[in-house]
Amino acid sequence: MSIRKVVVIGGGAGGMIAAGHAAELGAEVTLLEKMERPGKKVLLSGNGRCNLSNTRDIGEFTAMFGPNGRFLYHAFHHFFRDDLLKLLAGSGVRTLAEPDGRIFPASGKSIDVVKALQKYMSANRVKILTGTKVTAIEVSGNSALSVKTAAADYLADAVVLATGGASYPQTGSTGDGYRMAAKLGHRIVRLRPALVPLIVKEQQSAAVLHGISLSDVRLTCFGCRAADIDIAATPRADRGRGLGKSRAHVLESRRGGIIFTQDGLSGPAALLMSLAVADALEKGPASLTIDLQPGRTILQLSEDLKTMIRAHGGRQIKSILNELLPERIALTVLMKAGVLADTGASQMTSAQRQAISHALKGLAFNVKDIRPLAEAMVTAGGVHLDEVDPRTMQSKIVRGLNFCGEVLDLDADTGGYNLQAAFSTGYVAGEGAARAC
Ligand SMILES: Cc1cc2nc3c(=O)[nH]c(=O)nc-3n(C[C@H](O)[C@H](O)[C@H](O)COP(=O)(O)OP(=O)(O)OC[C@H]3O[C@@H](n4cnc5c(N)ncnc54)[C@H](O)[C@@H]3O)c2cc1C
Repeated sequence: MSIRKVVVIGGGAGGMIAAGHAAELGAEVTLLEKMERPGKKVLLSGNGRCNLSNTRDIGEFTAMFGPNGRFLYHAFHHFFRDDLLKLLAGSGVRTLAEPDGRIFPASGKSIDVVKALQKYMSANRVKILTGTKVTAIEVSGNSALSVKTAAADYLADAVVLATGGASYPQTGSTGDGYRMAAKLGHRIVRLRPALVPLIVKEQQSAAVLHGISLSDVRLTCFGCRAADIDIAATPRADRGRGLGKSRAHVLESRRGGIIFTQDGLSGPAALLMSLAVADALEKGPASLTIDLQPGRTILQLSEDLKTMIRAHGGRQIKSILNELLPERIALTVLMKAGVLADTGASQMTSAQRQAISHALKGLAFNVKDIRPLAEAMVTAGGVHLDEVDPRTMQSKIVRGLNFCGEVLDLDADTGGYNLQAAFSTGYVAGEGAARAC
């Protein structure tokens, strides 16, 4: 029996596992990576710590991908978190789960994950060619595939297209795989930025608040203008993909951290909201409220303010608010509430106190846009899932072609889901490629 030839295009999370596993199954595997080394995006992931998976169960996991998550059932049942952790442990990488479920290498270093995957590939004798950009895949005679690079063509019995998305192009993911798949007849679902910062219309406020980071707020996205928001509609629990259903004008709501950027908002809660915001903007206006005191109701907050004001009657209101919030935010809240910052606490009227409580529970901004795809953590859209067999990751259109990772129309929230999906689909694609030959 002749040895099966597999070419893996792209040495990212999915490609490295696909290559290692196809070789483990006996195929002769060549991995072509256009950058000078594999795994550049994995290195950046999780702020250099690599949030590689999550403790949630398969049902919750797939929900994080929205309706397309169903496609992942087989891959997850075949190779899931524990299999990944075992594979990494085999290369000496211990992992730790944080209380919120996110899993990282115990060393806190993403490089250890990349090294482990490289070890897995070299243990199975994968031939790795870096600095090698694939320009096209062509169907050759006898159902073989020809993988084209500037220097040479590689004939393969099967190819795994693992080129990732089209964001963070400096990591090598520049969307090449979408073009190659489209040329071979695959439909590509429109590409959009997912997990990307938001741009607000109130540019002056954004510039003033730039750089401030708040670790515990509730950010809510409404499908209306900021002036029309009813803050009483702000949900108490998170709403969004994989969570409770959105209602009326409330499109998504997340409690967590935010960071004010030069032109808007970033940080976990804002990033998670970007797809909902983009969808809303296609239909009409969208706005955001920041509940700066998510642990207290508006009534409790008003009472607490009353107590603070009574206790510090001689101080200015700005210095009292400054005990709750960074100074620049406190001043913005007062401005939105229409209260002069140097108003003496003892002079405060009950209406002013109500206005401040209101602004603290719903600091509102109109959304102008989201940042571009190049700045997104993940690309939404990609190779249409109807044209890929979820049990093998094989193309239903081109014999011998397999897909894995972000090149597919799959994207999830932050939390380790995207990497686990790349690893799981990579493993299945490697197997599909090795077995189909
Ligand atoms: C800043 C940042 C942080 C992130 N943090 C996390 C996190 O903590 N947890 C998580 O789950 N997800 C995270 N993600 C998302 C996650 O990294 C990706 O979803 C995942 O890496 C996708 O894996 P992949 O194998 O499909 O693609 P990639 O890892 O992007 O790999 C694709 C590879 O293909 C190569 N390539 C592309 N075109 C060609 C070509 N023509 N020829 C040859 N090679 C080519 C690229 O150079 C690249 O090495 C993060 C993303 C970013 C940008």
